[in-house]
Amino acid sequence: MRRGVCVKCGGGEIYGVQAHSAVYQDLWLGGQTKWSRPSTYFLACAGCGYVERYVNADKLDELRKRGTPMSD
Ligand SMILES: [Zn+2]
Repeated sequence: MRRGVCVKCGGGEIYGVQAHSAVYQDLWLGGQTKWSRPSTYFLACAGCGYVERYVNADKLDELRKRGTPMSD
């Protein structure tokens, strides 16, 4: 999706959208209040409605600290 092509329908009309709230639907990466800037954003396809979610680049270090690694 970040290459501008939908992985589900192959469409090319992709939009970036911020998460609505920094708290209620966001990843818990520590220290967030509801006034914080969201730590995630979405890419959404206008052709089929498929949505992907990404951690903002400036929060990737927090992801490494707070996430559970799935591989060693
Ligand atoms: Zn699509």
